[in-house]
Amino acid sequence: MSPYDLHCHSKVSDGTLSPRDLVQRAHAQGVKVLALTDHDDMRGLDEARATAVECGIELIAGVEVSVTWGGNTVHIVGLRLDPGHDQIVAGLRRNRAGRTERAQKMAEALAKLGIPGALEGAYAFADNKELIGRSHFARFLVDKGHVRNIKAVFKKYLVKGKPGYVHHDWATLTDAVAWIRQAGGMAVLAHPGRYLMGKEKRHLLFEEFKAAGGEAVEVVCGSHTPDQVLIYADYAQTFGLYASVGSDFHAPGENGRELGKLPSLPEHCRPIWSAW
Ligand code: AMP
Ligand code: MN
Ligand code: MN
Ligand code: MN
Repeated sequence: MSPYDLHCHSKVSDGTLSPRDLVQRAHAQGVKVLALTDHDDMRGLDEARATAVECGIELIAGVEVSVTWGGNTVHIVGLRLDPGHDQIVAGLRRNRAGRTERAQKMAEALAKLGIPGALEGAYAFADNKELIGRSHFARFLVDKGHVRNIKAVFKKYLVKGKPGYVHHDWATLTDAVAWIRQAGGMAVLAHPGRYLMGKEKRHLLFEEFKAAGGEAVEVVCGSHTPDQVLIYADYAQTFGLYASVGSDFHAPGENGRELGKLPSLPEHCRPIWSAW
């Protein structure tokens, strides 16, 4: 089991726990080094850091930036950055404004399918009103009994090609990596196994990420199978990237993910923390 968990969410984005409850839960699960990486917002970090000090664990300032690359949504995690740095603060604000616009369009699309009230319904699940996302819509749809669980709701309505999905242009890959680096952090390509793209395009993504200044990739993560762990350990080696570990925990019992319950990195990986 890895004592590191470098990817998780609080209710400042689409998790359900407060930063305080999240850090306490991580501590109880045996995590020694935790990064809070909320989507497009870093305003949970002060509370998380204060709680980490109380618990005696190390808290790493993080974020997960939404990016559009080659028509796909890609997530770039930033670790050990200064949450007050101007460029990233402004860039994340722009991503959040895009979420507000997209949410309106998503609600309109769902209304056309005969599901009224989705905007208000989704916002009722969002603690941070600037950070409305698909997970909040998913929780609303499950709550109303339209679909039985979160996984099924994404499959039926909220992924590319499905009627409740609305395309949005997030930050560019180069901007996201630059913001993270300007803020003194390291950029990590999140959960590469989740991106639906062929081998050539995936190679190109790694190449462009590396060329932009990206330094690490998630090898062990909540959505990777044991096979994918080995595949992305190889990618890390091929592209000269450090390897990261993160659960992508959002909520107790959701998607079967828990804080800190991750295997260690394969032997030949260079852990990202060896650079710290
Ligand atoms: P958004 O950034 O608002 O487009 O939402 C992306 C978030 O939706 C991810 O961070 C996950 O929390 C969640 N998500 C995306 N795809 C799925 C899926 N297939 N099943 C469950 N949750 C998902
Ligand atoms: Mn999420
Ligand atoms: Mn993600
Ligand atoms: Mn995440």
